[in-house]
Amino acid sequence: MSDTVKYILPESEIPKNWYNITADLPKAPPPVLNPGTGEPLGPDDLAPLFPMDLILQEVSSERYIDIPEPVREIYKQWRPSPLYRARRLEKALDTPAKIYYKYEGVSPTGSHKPNTAVAQAFYNKEAGVKKISTETGAGQWGSSLAFAGSIFGLEIQVYMVKVSFEQKPYRKAMMESFGATCIASPSDTTKFGKAYLAKNPDSTGSLGIAISEAVEVAATNDDVKYSLGSVLNHVLMHQTIVGSEALKQMEMAGDYPDVIVGCTGGGSNFAGLMFPFLGEKLRDGSNLRVVAVEPAACPSLTKGKYAYDFGDTGNMTPLTKMHTLGSTFVPSGFHAGGLRYHGMAPLISHLKELDLLEAYAFHQNACFEAGVTFGREEGIIPAPEANHAVKGAIEEALRCKRDGKSETILFNLCGHGHFDMQAYTEYFSGNLEDRNYDEQELAMALSGLPSVGN
Ligand SMILES: *Cc1c(COP(=O)(O)O)cnc(C)c1O
Repeated sequence: MSDTVKYILPESEIPKNWYNITADLPKAPPPVLNPGTGEPLGPDDLAPLFPMDLILQEVSSERYIDIPEPVREIYKQWRPSPLYRARRLEKALDTPAKIYYKYEGVSPTGSHKPNTAVAQAFYNKEAGVKKISTETGAGQWGSSLAFAGSIFGLEIQVYMVKVSFEQKPYRKAMMESFGATCIASPSDTTKFGKAYLAKNPDSTGSLGIAISEAVEVAATNDDVKYSLGSVLNHVLMHQTIVGSEALKQMEMAGDYPDVIVGCTGGGSNFAGLMFPFLGEKLRDGSNLRVVAVEPAACPSLTKGKYAYDFGDTGNMTPLTKMHTLGSTFVPSGFHAGGLRYHGMAPLISHLKELDLLEAYAFHQNACFEAGVTFGREEGIIPAPEANHAVKGAIEEALRCKRDGKSETILFNLCGHGHFDMQAYTEYFSGNLEDRNYDEQELAMALSGLPSVGN
């Protein structure tokens, strides 16, 4: 039917495996390094932080990894997620382009994050872990791990970046509803947090700081493991369920994307949608373009340096080679809290170096404007993070209009904005600031990059 707007797969079509793009890369990504010795890390080095099954996924080069049946059972609550054709938006933009979006806001917590939260909670439970510590920016990850923890009977402790803790109080209530604990970071519950607060009493926090606190709790307690909601290879891999479904749904639509767009904080929702398609390009060749959109106030891919860096401000993590603004970089308190990370996933960074993806940065007002346009046509209010993907998709559609091209655009609508309406209120009242990153602070943060590996 020519006017179909929704492509739905039956439960039986939930993919049976995750896709590991490492198997198809033309060149292997650089190894993770021990910051003390500069030597590549082995699986055992990560054992204090993660269960072994996840560590083996992190370093695997097998193309497909089976999704455990109990995880697929839980996925059934909201997966397969719908793929939509944005027909009203196409009309409003008067573009010859076809715009499709995969909608991850149908999950219990309203974003793509439960795709990996459920998997991580499962493997931790299997390994006998009782408690997991983690950080969260806008609260999407914290509430998703809290949800997964409640299903598997795991205790979850979340360090939430203070500026978001104050902007989004309902996220904390959501985590508590699932039985988790949520602490504003920096906090006085960790050694690192206390020391940081002593030097920066008015700190509004950052993901890098919150990660240090969560890692410290896991590293100093035998019965606690740590979990990360983005950036790591295994997290990106769990998210490929999104793209594997979308492959089948695009086939139902009788279409194939010319360009895939996603917003990038740590890179997981973008990777999740585009890796399975990019894998086809790497194996069989195609003209597919993939486009990452990031905030101009925290532009790791477009302005960061490709270098070895720590994943956290307290320098407790291993060193990974990635596009980074420096682990001490603290972005301004703009509203897409999920995009305020100083680094980019090593796999996404590697693909950028291989010229396999493009990256653009936009200011938040332009992104909210795009999100509001989208909402008025499609009836879904995107999360502030997702507004960056919407902006990127609209830019592509307008390019098609200028060039008279009927290309097919696919983007990831990675979450809804129902917990973020305060940000919309500020946008409508003209109170959202378009701040650039601080050049001086960036220079300083980059001058502090570790010498090991660089
Ligand atoms: C966490 C989050 C992001 C940023 O994380 P990625 O790993 O880059 O996907 C983006 N959008 C939403 C809705 C999020 O919850």
